[in-house]
Amino acid sequence: MTYQPVPVFLYHSVSADPPPWIAPFTVRPRVFAEQLDLLADNGLDVVPLRRLVASLRGGPPLPPRSAVLTFDDGFADFHSTVAPLLAARGLPATLYVTTGALGGLSWPPERGSLLPPAPMLTWRQVRELDPFVEIGGHTRTHPQLDALPRQSAREEVLGCKDRLEDALGHRVDSFAYPHGYSSRTVRRLVDEAGWTSATAVRYGFSSGADEPLRIARLMVRADTTRDRFLDWAQGLGAPVAPFPERALSRAWRSYRRLRAGIDHPHPSLPLTAR
Ligand SMILES: [Zn+2]
Repeated sequence: MTYQPVPVFLYHSVSADPPPWIAPFTVRPRVFAEQLDLLADNGLDVVPLRRLVASLRGGPPLPPRSAVLTFDDGFADFHSTVAPLLAARGLPATLYVTTGALGGLSWPPERGSLLPPAPMLTWRQVRELDPFVEIGGHTRTHPQLDALPRQSAREEVLGCKDRLEDALGHRVDSFAYPHGYSSRTVRRLVDEAGWTSATAVRYGFSSGADEPLRIARLMVRADTTRDRFLDWAQGLGAPVAPFPERALSRAWRSYRRLRAGIDHPHPSLPLTAR
């Protein structure tokens, strides 16, 4: 059986002037606006992530040509640049924040994150955005969850949810794995913590048969060409979930675990390999 491909786009920063470490994962505002318009021009329906999750959990199916927009980490440009461009088009999105990376006052104070320095959202801005976009969690410190001891991974997954729910005063349901990395154990922890969905990377389309705790996403990067984006908008150019984990991903995880054991955790940049 084949399934209708659902592109779940993953963005990081949208800026004309990003710090060098995030530049390869940053889309310029003009290009981002063009991509949003391409979706509309090609008849895609941008739906909230929760509608995809509902369809994966047996609820109503999505409109035939749906897409989802997601943003990882919590860069400050979401507030200044992304939100106005989304609002002007009435588009829903999910913003996954690393709670330890957020600026401004928080009590008790967070202990920081592994992300290199960059302008990040403040807690106040996250609260301002909350009525307009879905705020999701992306751990406290942005570790590679699948290379952490179980107890530390649990604390990251649960602690981030508690902090967000305290700050926003309501439930938060949606989680994204830092770097897209998860394992069966990590997915179980995410489920036990009460997250109802979790997005990975996987470089593929989601679909009505995808896994709610391992939703496939397509990463839009600085080097994503217009043609590549247009292919994705048309459901072309990437595998459609469910598909098995690649042997390469498994090998890469073993390597990262080994490094974490003998040395220090692999540098915490966003996805350098899959
Ligand atoms: Zn991230």
